[in-house]
Amino acid sequence: MGGRAVVVGGGIGGLAAAIGLHRTGWEVTVLERAAALDDAGAGISLAANGIRALDALGVGRAVRDAAHRQYTGGTRTPDGSWLARMDGAALERAVGIPMTGIPRAELHRLLREALPASCLRTGVGALSAGDAADLLVAADGVRSGIRAELFPQHPGPVHSGSTVLRAITAEPVVLDTDFELTWGPGAEFGHIAFADGRAEWHAVLASPPGVRHADALSFLRARFGAWHHPVPALLAATRPEDVLHHDTYELVTPVPSYAVGRVALLGDAAHAMTPNLGQGACQALEDAVVLAAELAAGPSVEAALSRYDAVRRPRASGVARAARRAGRLGHRLSHPAAVAARNAALRLAPSGATIRALLTHASWTPPPLP
Ligand code: FAD
Repeated sequence: MGGRAVVVGGGIGGLAAAIGLHRTGWEVTVLERAAALDDAGAGISLAANGIRALDALGVGRAVRDAAHRQYTGGTRTPDGSWLARMDGAALERAVGIPMTGIPRAELHRLLREALPASCLRTGVGALSAGDAADLLVAADGVRSGIRAELFPQHPGPVHSGSTVLRAITAEPVVLDTDFELTWGPGAEFGHIAFADGRAEWHAVLASPPGVRHADALSFLRARFGAWHHPVPALLAATRPEDVLHHDTYELVTPVPSYAVGRVALLGDAAHAMTPNLGQGACQALEDAVVLAAELAAGPSVEAALSRYDAVRRPRASGVARAARRAGRLGHRLSHPAAVAARNAALRLAPSGATIRALLTHASWTPPPLP
């Protein structure tokens, strides 16, 4: 099957969908509202399922070459003591592919390069679900206008209770580990090392939406300055103008369907989740491969989209629920007794427990694309 497909949204999900459709014979146009195609974020972790999806789309090799493999790290407390160590090599043995970290701009560029430039149109938005095409893919993000039009009763995104400040360092930083998460009361600080020696860091704070700081970096240096190495070093290696600040939103009420007629919802438009498991983009990449595979199996767009919904909705909503639970156990805990109980449980957990938890989401085999 093929035809004319319009993908609304040129984020990771929309570009991946366009690659899958283009490879399987569709004439694809990606419409992106923003003036330039990019990804407003710092860095991203991709687990094995995300990399396998990229493999199926033909861009896995390029992403692996640009990414940094994450072998060492784990979860700590602000004084630096370890709650759980992550054995990245054991994870790689179990699932075949290590976790990887890559700047978002780099991932986005590699996805763009897998498409003919003529597919991509920027500065074009406000498409509606009724617009003519054989297939419309709504990859327009957490605030999807197409989702709101298809499901006017759906309550839409809900603030997660947290705000995230993040950046990529301006220069290389000496790090002892590839990735870390540190949980203090009501706050998390983490890093992902990149192949070029720089790193992404993020600070998550339990916070109502809309709280902003005149000088975010000074605020963070005061808030996290006494935390263990490398937290202060990462902040010291960052330029004030590089700090991004976003409140995080999720779809707590699942959408009734990822498919309505010839319209497919994909990525955050379908299942925006909290970032606690680092799975949002990985799930968007899975969506893209399944969408292309089901459409290739025919016999009609409607039948293929109905199977896409049946495959993807249980999987992505399960991961979203797990991400929400993980958030409640992490930085959202602030009562000292609850923090102490969580920390004791993590220290006592058998060493394979973290790997088993990650494997639940990372173990995924893409359907073959023709
Ligand atoms: P988006 O990236 O939001 O793209 C939607 C696009 O649609 C935008 O470019 C927007 O401009 C465009 N658009 C909107 N409306 C219109 C319109 N009407 N017309 C045209 N264009 C339109 N995931 C991971 O897998 N690993 C991680 O480590 C990870 N870390 C994260 C850390 C944080 C702090 C956050 C917030 C998220 C994280 N995620 C992670 C999740 C991941 O970022 C998202 O799930 C993913 O980027 C969603 O991609 P998308 O293409 O669906 O949506």
